[in-house]
Amino acid sequence: MRCTIVGAGVSGLSSGIRLLESGHDAHIVSDKFSPETVSDVAAAIWYPFLVKPAERADTWGIVTYDVLEGLCDSAPEAGVRMIDGREYLRDVVDSPPWNDEIAAFRILEDSEIPDGYVFGWEFRVPVIDMQLYMPWLKNRFEELGGTFEKGFVERLQDLEGDVVVNCVGLGAIELCNDEEVKPARGQIIFIEQDPGVGHFDQQPETLTYTIPRTNVTVLGGTAQVGDWGLEIRDEDNDLILSKVEAIWPDLDRSKIVGGTVGLRPSRSEVRLEKEEIGDTRVIHNYGHGGAGVTLSWGCADEVVSIAGARKES
Ligand SMILES: Cc1cc2nc3c(=O)[nH]c(=O)nc-3n(C[C@H](O)[C@H](O)[C@H](O)COP(=O)(O)OP(=O)(O)OC[C@H]3O[C@@H](n4cnc5c(N)ncnc54)[C@H](O)[C@@H]3O)c2cc1C
Repeated sequence: MRCTIVGAGVSGLSSGIRLLESGHDAHIVSDKFSPETVSDVAAAIWYPFLVKPAERADTWGIVTYDVLEGLCDSAPEAGVRMIDGREYLRDVVDSPPWNDEIAAFRILEDSEIPDGYVFGWEFRVPVIDMQLYMPWLKNRFEELGGTFEKGFVERLQDLEGDVVVNCVGLGAIELCNDEEVKPARGQIIFIEQDPGVGHFDQQPETLTYTIPRTNVTVLGGTAQVGDWGLEIRDEDNDLILSKVEAIWPDLDRSKIVGGTVGLRPSRSEVRLEKEEIGDTRVIHNYGHGGAGVTLSWGCADEVVSIAGARKES
């Protein structure tokens, strides 16, 4: 089957790779490529955050976890490694549904919980260095025979192919007139200091994180829904640093080396479904909010299964 994918972020590239591995042809059309996509800005840790529907996201997430964990050994050049992180909570809650599925998970002792929090857990998950991972995905897609074309798509039904896979993220506002898609602005800071374990508070209203990558640690964050501003704001940096210091008091501000901003493609829930637009068979795969990397391989598998099901019908 000839598949045209719109979008060259993590969703489009992962979908393309899985389609090629399943024996289909894949061609990506996109107006921007790495390093200019939102995916390039992702922090990025595996963690289902700011994404719905929860049950499907957890299933996609676990598939992705296993793939990313495997890449640590099979493809070190992809920039994925496992780290331990601690999530702190202001209420006692049930463990996340994926706690039995990941490499290590335990509830924290009281002595391990910072002031202001009452509960928490330690988890072992993949951290993905997107500066390495995006080029790796691109190379893998090309090695498998995939092709790229630069272009802005105005109508999905104008594209060639037996199936069109729509991975445009925020672009769906315009391309699909989808009013449920909104930017969730994320500002982050890079620091050359290792926190040992990552420290996290991933409630949307208090969002705080320290993600140790190979060269820098990423400090966050913000999740400002409806905010299109791409400039770095001093007041957001101040807020991030004060939130981080509350859970990582050893933070040394003199080691800050930069920062950036990205707009997460947030939506009431991920849109992963098929639609007939005229004679064009479309599979939508967008609206992954703060978890596009976390869900990427699970969603890509579902794209293939929908495409495959069409082939047989
Ligand atoms: C600060 C920050 C931190 C984050 N941290 C994490 C994290 O730790 N873990 C995690 O899992 N996720 C994280 N995310 C979220 C993650 O980055 C996104 O969910 C993910 O990148 C979405 O990928 P995508 O491929 O769907 O969209 P994008 O990366 O936005 O790609 C969309 C593609 O479609 C193209 N496109 C759009 N419209 C058109 C059109 N009309 N015609 C042609 N091409 C078009 C674009 O050029 C682009 O290539 C973070 C995001 C931010 C901003």
